[in-house]
Amino acid sequence: MIRFLMTLTEKVLARASGKTHVQPGDNVWVNVDTLMTHDVCGPGTIGVFKREFGKDAKVWDRQKVVIIPDHYIFTADSMSNRNVDILRDFVREQGLPYFYDVIDDPNGHWSFDAGKGQLARQYGSRYTGVCHTTLPWKGHTRPGEILFGTDSHTCMAGAFNQFATGIGNTDAGFILGTGKLLIKVPETMRFFLEGALPAGVMAKDVILHVIGEIGFDGATYKAMQWEGPGVYTMSMDDRMTIANMAIEAGGKNGIFPCDQKTLDYVRERVEENGTKQDFEPVDLDRDQSFSYDKVFDLSKLEPTVACHPDPGNRKLAKEMGNISLDRAYIGSCTGGKTSDFLAFAEVVRGKTVKIDTFGVPATTKVVRELKETLWSGQSVWQILESAGVRLTENASCAACLGGPVDTFGRLNKPMKCISATNRNFPGRMGNKESEVFLASPYTVAASALTGKITDPREFIS
Ligand code: SF4
Repeated sequence: MIRFLMTLTEKVLARASGKTHVQPGDNVWVNVDTLMTHDVCGPGTIGVFKREFGKDAKVWDRQKVVIIPDHYIFTADSMSNRNVDILRDFVREQGLPYFYDVIDDPNGHWSFDAGKGQLARQYGSRYTGVCHTTLPWKGHTRPGEILFGTDSHTCMAGAFNQFATGIGNTDAGFILGTGKLLIKVPETMRFFLEGALPAGVMAKDVILHVIGEIGFDGATYKAMQWEGPGVYTMSMDDRMTIANMAIEAGGKNGIFPCDQKTLDYVRERVEENGTKQDFEPVDLDRDQSFSYDKVFDLSKLEPTVACHPDPGNRKLAKEMGNISLDRAYIGSCTGGKTSDFLAFAEVVRGKTVKIDTFGVPATTKVVRELKETLWSGQSVWQILESAGVRLTENASCAACLGGPVDTFGRLNKPMKCISATNRNFPGRMGNKESEVFLASPYTVAASALTGKITDPREFIS
């Protein structure tokens, strides 16, 4: 019997399409395990679904649809508020169990009260925040499965040994009706990590380094597979940061092997949330075919910055002290996790930021954890506020993608901003003349303290 050796992505796609073997370039129909959509693309997806399958059509599997309003939420823009209402109407009509609504009333209407300001909580008990950080938290990511989402950073779930990628509204509408999608099997690029990260260097620096190496289109329609002993030293949050930015190199998906950390993380969350508990990881074959294969020594990496105008424009933080900044921003699916805020707080603790600094937790769980985590009797939330960070309890995408003009932290005029987010093409965070520098939470924190792009190792013992 011939034993076919496949990469992780090929294995997931082969299983999901009922085949023993697939290879790059094959077009296969895959059965979808989870479809996620949000407030920006959800209404369009629902429109496609109703147009193509009929106004009384039912989704293919109610347990496999996850709807997470997170993008344009805390804004007085009535069209944005209306989008959340469209999602709620659809969820009620279809009887969908996984909807993380902004408000508690299933028959209500969402409207943001600008009079209460941007900082204080304005959401109900089920609201969660950014979709990609919500999915693992709420037990919707499982090894060996297929996740499609109407958002390019859906690739973040590759951290969990899953094939996860972003799709458009038309494909998502088709999945709602059929549970299937035709997909071309991508070639796989392997990034083999050795060693461990030195002090002051984070997972964000790893992915910025790699994108700088291959370019912002260097992985176009490729799977980015992460392997090597360095991978196993990383937390799940670290892996999520790296997988999240596969799309910033044009990647179809990013994917990690499954280890005990993956299993512990996933099992805890599927049990806690009562979501599907059975899954089958895909493991590494000894011989696989890659279109690119390179070893990276983590111990050699330094704090890295992606300069305006794209995520591949790489420089070292230590070379950039001549660039004065107007703003610092920590938040998003990539950089707004609890571990990101803890790293940021480690640097600014007991000091005061020199420039406008905005903090937007990715999820409501992050808000809770920052308030509950005490350092010498003070919560991390208080430590950040005392340092001068403008922190909002309204977890969401916020200024990561600009949004309506009243969005918290949005760049409403030309300015230079250092940000823990994932994308810096012109206009991404608002004003088109602004320059956004992507960096790790450590580097963003150090730069907030000095007002210039700063190597955080100056502040880390
Ligand atoms: S936080 Fe930013 S990158 Fe993440 S889903 Fe929202 S807009 Fe996209």
